[in-house]
Amino acid sequence: MKKSPIRCAVVSLGCPKNLVDSEETLGWLAQSDFAITTDLDLADVIIVNTCGFLKAAIEENLQQLKSLAKRKKQGKCKAIIAIGCLVSRFPELVKNAVPEVDACLGVGEYHKVPQLVAQLTGSNGRVQEILGEPPYKPRIVSTPRWYAYMKIAEGCDRTCTFCAIPFIRGKQKSRPMEDLLAEAKALAEQGVQEIILIAQDTTRYGVDLYGKPMLPELIRQIDQLDGLKWLRLLYCYPTAVSQRLIEAMAESEKVAHYIDIPLQHSHIDILRAMQRGGDDQTYARLIERLRSAIPDIAIRTTFIVGFPGETDKHFEHLLKFVKAMRFDRLGVFTFSPEEGTPAFQLANQVPKKVAEERRHLLLSTQREISLQRNKNFVGKSLEVVIERWDGSKGFYEARSQYEAPEIDGVVKVKAHSTDGLLGKFVNVKVTKALHYDLVAEFVVERGQRDDRKIEFRANDRI
Ligand code: SF4
Repeated sequence: MKKSPIRCAVVSLGCPKNLVDSEETLGWLAQSDFAITTDLDLADVIIVNTCGFLKAAIEENLQQLKSLAKRKKQGKCKAIIAIGCLVSRFPELVKNAVPEVDACLGVGEYHKVPQLVAQLTGSNGRVQEILGEPPYKPRIVSTPRWYAYMKIAEGCDRTCTFCAIPFIRGKQKSRPMEDLLAEAKALAEQGVQEIILIAQDTTRYGVDLYGKPMLPELIRQIDQLDGLKWLRLLYCYPTAVSQRLIEAMAESEKVAHYIDIPLQHSHIDILRAMQRGGDDQTYARLIERLRSAIPDIAIRTTFIVGFPGETDKHFEHLLKFVKAMRFDRLGVFTFSPEEGTPAFQLANQVPKKVAEERRHLLLSTQREISLQRNKNFVGKSLEVVIERWDGSKGFYEARSQYEAPEIDGVVKVKAHSTDGLLGKFVNVKVTKALHYDLVAEFVVERGQRDDRKIEFRANDRI
């Protein structure tokens, strides 16, 4: 009788960049003789792709590993493998804190996972042979079928003093443009309608390979592909958002009117201590240039409060800046002193309580800005993609080009049933503004009724 294959599950923790690495790991496993499952109860081997970016994430990741270790102790799985950022950064910490972890593999070693699974399970199944650096990366996309992330570069050349990423992931290594175009084409052919470009710093894409930033060229080329609807840019470094890039965005048909630019602070003293480029004036001019080129652009940013040396005066500067700029989306982190980074050693550390209060104040200020912004949408039509049905509340969760998945608000579209709409792009009319979300109802456009009769049922409309 044929032995059933070893079943592997991959648990992805952390950011979308980690998710793409998990998808690559799934790709390598699928090329070998191992079965893949999303059900942990069925998994013989659990592979955990860890995040080691911040202290809080490290704690959370160790907790997750410990709870998975219980499964192994109870005999529910045969082995646990930890991979990714946390393991690269603190391999000993993982082994000591969770001795049930059988093996660790750092960032960039995902192609070795099948070999390890075979060793740990004594399986003699076929394992994909890898000689040296893999020539290409297989991948099983795990996001909903209508969108996918595409990692255009690995690592980072910047030297932000609070950040451990360059130690963990090394210098920037861009992927050749022809590989990215082939991947984007393949994704579009599989039915993906939104591609989200990610990297540690997407704006620096290509500098290591082509001697200059090539993001504008890349988006112009992806813009030509059939089948795609939206192309979204995340993680743009402020001083690298060039006029060339803004023009490419504005002239493109598919680039979503959205940009994520982590600014981290507004005060020059703090920005210099962070070793970040620019200041409040250059940032304000950048926002103005973006809004004049693409008037409806949604700008997302993040700030760090409580960086060492941040006084009340510095924080008030940031608060005033946020009120003046009226960002569409805003995230706030409190400073986390990370071992090995220059900021870990800095004097004048801000008490945790003060940093928390500042975070709270910035978020509550943004909450009102966000509500005012959302009110401007009431009565307007929006094209959205339907992503989830919430039966208990009677609405679909949807997203327009102004929202990125998982991090921004949603458009709640009232409906009575769930049939056949997931992943469809439809027009809705906004009826109400909430602080972060919008409420909307379906719109049926003249002349489109016949085309859409499968998608819209009478009781789907309010
Ligand atoms: S640009 Fe981003 S990833 Fe690179 S060092 Fe700065 S914060 Fe870290």
